[in-house]
Amino acid sequence: MKVAIVGGGAAGFFAGLSVKKHHSNADVFILEKSSKLLSKVKISGGGRCNVTHACFKASQLAKYYPRGSKELKKAFSVFNVNHTIAWFKERGVDLKRESDNRMFPVTNTSNTIINCFLDEARKHNLKIQKDTFVTRIAQEKRQVKLTIDGFDHLYDKVIIASGGTPKLEGLDWMKKIGHSIVSPLPSLFTFNMPNEGITALQGLSVKNVIIRVQGTKLVQEGPLLITHWGMSGPSVLKTSAWGARDLAKLGYDFKIQINWLGISNEDEVRKILNRHCYNYDKKKIENSNPFQIPSRLWKFLIVKSELDGQKINHELSNKEKNKLINTLLNDVFQVRGKTTFKEEFVTCGGVDLKDVDIKTMQSKVFPNLYFAGEILNIDGVTGGFNFQAAWTTAYIAGQLKS
Ligand SMILES: Cc1cc2nc3c(=O)[nH]c(=O)nc-3n(C[C@H](O)[C@H](O)[C@H](O)COP(=O)(O)OP(=O)(O)OC[C@H]3O[C@@H](n4cnc5c(N)ncnc54)[C@H](O)[C@@H]3O)c2cc1C
Repeated sequence: MKVAIVGGGAAGFFAGLSVKKHHSNADVFILEKSSKLLSKVKISGGGRCNVTHACFKASQLAKYYPRGSKELKKAFSVFNVNHTIAWFKERGVDLKRESDNRMFPVTNTSNTIINCFLDEARKHNLKIQKDTFVTRIAQEKRQVKLTIDGFDHLYDKVIIASGGTPKLEGLDWMKKIGHSIVSPLPSLFTFNMPNEGITALQGLSVKNVIIRVQGTKLVQEGPLLITHWGMSGPSVLKTSAWGARDLAKLGYDFKIQINWLGISNEDEVRKILNRHCYNYDKKKIENSNPFQIPSRLWKFLIVKSELDGQKINHELSNKEKNKLINTLLNDVFQVRGKTTFKEEFVTCGGVDLKDVDIKTMQSKVFPNLYFAGEILNIDGVTGGFNFQAAWTTAYIAGQLKS
């Protein structure tokens, strides 16, 4: 059996090795259009490669995927985080879990993952062809015909692992063979706020905020980082991932409402503030921060609430307290534009999952064709979820089940 894998990235290598595991006699060709293999793995996770996430329950893990969640939940029963850890361990690569559950090679370098794949590829005799751009795909009797540099090549089975593409035209070759395409858009970006004074607090992070996007149903919670261009951090990235389509529709021009305390109950906040003002009645407001937010932010919010920070706590009127509470819980900012997150960005959209059998990753509209990785309309939030989706779909595709 002659098998072609289109794409020499994470999903392509994992799929190739899965083919060899399940069909040891198969002749496997990895066709990579560029001169570089595994280039995203190299730069991933800030050069450390966030291989997966220590989340061991399929139903829980699936919740981290704005697109493809339902389908992945099934796929994780075949290959999940436990399998990923074991797969690498069996090949001499130990993964470590960090405090936020992201998992990296203990060596802290993506080269470990790359070398592992290259060694395995050599060991299992995968034939790697670089500078090999597949431009067309067609059916030829019971085989699949791939066009490379104007020449046609026949294969018995083909796995498409060509990754995400930011432009719809990049998926034309899939559309031509009958696949529905969900138009691609960026996911995982940070917010630009060119006219907001909060950027003066760049570098400051807040443990747990709640972000709401006005005019939508988007609500996300988590840490937030103030940057020199606006806002970033897990809460913003999650909002960008879950809101990839809504925010694109708004032209990346929208208002967000931030609850700086991560506490939804206003009465609870009022109680904390009142108790604090009573216990520290002689202290200046700006020097007496009762909440778990950085003191520079506390001072900023006092000014934003038009309060005099020099006032002492017992002079604070109820009206002033209400103003402060409103800023703490419903602080509004204008977002104008986005910036791609350097650590990890992905494409939302791609080959529509309705045309793919998730049990086999086989195309429902084109015979002997399989899919793996980011070409599919699957994407996760940050934290190792995108690679996990690549390993899972690639493993299943490599079984080449009909
Ligand atoms: C900067 C950055 C950091 C990231 N860090 C992480 C992280 O730490 N953890 C995580 O989980 N995710 C991370 N991601 C996301 C993750 O890298 C991707 O989800 C993952 O690489 C997808 O794998 P893939 O094999 O499907 O696609 P890719 O890695 O994009 O590989 C596809 C390959 O196919 C080739 N190709 C495309 N078209 C053709 C064609 N027609 N013919 C031949 N070859 C073709 C491409 O050149 C490419 O080499 C990061 C992404 C970025 C951009």
